[in-house]
Amino acid sequence: MLNLDVMIDEATIQKRIGELAEEIDKTYHGESIVAICVLRGAIYFAVDLTKKMKTPIETDFIKISSYVGTETTGNIIMGLDISENIQGRDVLIIEDIIDTGHTLKYLREYLLTKKPKSLRIAVLADKKEKREVEVPVDFVGFEIPNKFIVGYGFDYHNCYRNLPYIGSMEG
Ligand code: 5GP
Repeated sequence: MLNLDVMIDEATIQKRIGELAEEIDKTYHGESIVAICVLRGAIYFAVDLTKKMKTPIETDFIKISSYVGTETTGNIIMGLDISENIQGRDVLIIEDIIDTGHTLKYLREYLLTKKPKSLRIAVLADKKEKREVEVPVDFVGFEIPNKFIVGYGFDYHNCYRNLPYIGSMEG
């Protein structure tokens, strides 16, 4: 078992997600959207966020990754594409974290080629100081320091995603 410090506890995560859900609902005024959950890390966030939202949602998934262990490879791999036709739709990308920004930049540009009516991004965590490319992020749960985090969807070699809190590895 890893030695983890609790960075954000379960109650704080859930409270903040409730606030984000309200903020997102206000943005869409009851219009239906396609919510695209980025696998695998964002599943916990996407489930809790969309359960708290009142906006009508069609759920879709995309699988993309750039990390091996605790380092970004800079090499973005798409493992699963979306199933819905998003042309002319309001689309919300639900992602776990923005770090360097390369993953979301790639994803955003890829989804824009499918001509959605609008494309917004919600992330649970933002490691602002590590940003290498600018990406417009519309909804941010927490700004966090530059530490490797695990739990609540965040993995270490695909383990620990199911912890209900976010922990950091380096103390
Ligand atoms: P970016 O392309 O913005 O550098 O990286 C985004 C991806 O890196 C995220 O989707 C996530 O999978 C992974 N990532 C970035 N920081 C962390 C972290 O602290 N912990 C874990 N488990 N994954 C991270």
